[in-house]
Amino acid sequence: MEDNMTQLTSEPSVQSAAKTTTGFDASRRPYIWVNGDMVPKDEAKVSVYDHGLLYGDGIFEGIRVYNGKIFKCEQHMDRLYKCCDEIFIDLASHVSRQEMIDIQRKCIEANGIVNGYIRLVITRGVGTLGLNPYLCPTPGVICIADTIALYTPEMYEKGMRVVVAHRPKTPIACLDPRVKTLNYLNNIMAKCEAIHLGKKMGITDPSEQLLEVIMLSTEGKVAEGSGDNIFVVKDGKIITPPSEVGILEGITRRFVKDVLCPACDIEIEERLFELDEIYSADEVFLTGTAAEMIAVREVIEHVDLEVAKIHTITEGEGPITKKLRAMFTQVVTSDNVPED
Ligand code: PMP
Repeated sequence: MEDNMTQLTSEPSVQSAAKTTTGFDASRRPYIWVNGDMVPKDEAKVSVYDHGLLYGDGIFEGIRVYNGKIFKCEQHMDRLYKCCDEIFIDLASHVSRQEMIDIQRKCIEANGIVNGYIRLVITRGVGTLGLNPYLCPTPGVICIADTIALYTPEMYEKGMRVVVAHRPKTPIACLDPRVKTLNYLNNIMAKCEAIHLGKKMGITDPSEQLLEVIMLSTEGKVAEGSGDNIFVVKDGKIITPPSEVGILEGITRRFVKDVLCPACDIEIEERLFELDEIYSADEVFLTGTAAEMIAVREVIEHVDLEVAKIHTITEGEGPITKKLRAMFTQVVTSDNVPED
């Protein structure tokens, strides 16, 4: 997922300086939009009194740019504004939806992005040291457009290894995971289980790294990864947990469900399930804006950071995951990348 991301490549996704006509000095890229100004990264600063920093009080979005188009822009805007409403940030009265799209286009242009990634961050804004959100009159708006590669190309080819996290998902009643808040510690702590286990196992091959987890609800139902949604393939059919289990309703998940599965004539069902269905699955894969689609090859159970059991799901990327991923690639590399 996009958090704790490693920038592995930055290839031809960015136009060369000679081709750009934006008036932005290419050697100072990336240019970042911060509260009304487009500034080079080293000048992109926020107040230490911003509640986004003090309390993780805000909302974010991770969005892909493919072929210069903002992939599923409208859906990302829907989620952004809905999530802001959920935490009582009245974003629309400060920045309209159209203005937010224009900010993203300006960032794409300033940075010469053809294929890349946009991070929108909306903070509660600058306030006092107290918690009161109503003392923060103006939300902060940050837009970063850059390139991204979460996992190595080998990981996509042979599938990744993931760890079952002991830390459960924050229950909906505490902080609804459907709201993409700046408070991602629940996910980060789960991800640390995988990273710490990988370290203990002495893994050095980058494509074998343990970078993602399977998180469960407090009732033991499969929920999602730290930054990705999860899918199980069994007997030609796909199953994914429903949002009521307490997961982010991923836009890539929706694309798989509403577009890719029907196009490939694959049945998909949303229902609750437990780890046994992961272990007995024919295939498992993850989806997310940053990760796109990636197969899970192996699922590792641990007890106090000692490996308890390794479940091999597939030897490499399974046939259904491969088919869906090929279609995904076909859509996002076409001349008609969908913005809605
Ligand atoms: N779950 C979580 C917890 C996430 O952070 C993300 C990434 N935003 C996803 C799922 C996937 O969502 P999307 O496809 O919208 O990126």
